[in-house]
Amino acid sequence: MQFSKLRLTGFKSFVDPTDLIIADGLTGVVGPNGCGKSNLLEALRWVMGENRPTAMRGGGMEDVIFAGTSSRNAKNFAEVCLTIDNSERLAPSGFNESDQLEIVRRITRDVGSAYKANGKDTRARDVQMLFADASTGSHSPALVRQGQISELINAKPKSRRRILEEAAGISGLYQRRHEAELK
Ligand code: ATP
Ligand code: MG
Repeated sequence: MQFSKLRLTGFKSFVDPTDLIIADGLTGVVGPNGCGKSNLLEALRWVMGENRPTAMRGGGMEDVIFAGTSSRNAKNFAEVCLTIDNSERLAPSGFNESDQLEIVRRITRDVGSAYKANGKDTRARDVQMLFADASTGSHSPALVRQGQISELINAKPKSRRRILEEAAGISGLYQRRHEAELK
């Protein structure tokens, strides 16, 4: 599965619909301080099911919604759409009906988050499971936040072990086992 596009609407500083095309190979995002580079990475993490406000640099989950500026009113919702190239049909069952997979997460003030996969309502947990392995996922070691390298160097052994487990790709297994135990 290859990510091909990220669309942000009302998410943090991206008030108007904005597309980030993710081409094959390397995509670089450059710009001055505060232009929204880290917000893009947070949008990617968020659409994959991130639910910790701290990981989104906010106090509450609604802080991802565009809060307004002196010239623009605040928005009532934030939406992120991740388009995935599934032409090799590697998505798990339930997500594998077409060559293109679109995962949408929308948060509305005082209502909360809702997810869709190719237009159909989906549970948060199913989206998190879709991305539960090391190569992707909101906790993936492939997503390195600003300041995270120094955190890793200063980490306690237990949290460093968790990072290594994620890198080894076994944390998805833990999550699935936990899910199986709940059933
Ligand atoms: P740096 O180069 O310093 O790391 P950056 O390009 O990573 O900067 P971000 O941290 O992604 O920048 O963007 C910060 C900007 O996003 C700030 O201007 C902040 O006001 C804005 N922002 C964050 N949350 C919201 C929100 N809910 N509504 C409106 N703007 C927001
Ligand atoms: Mg940044």
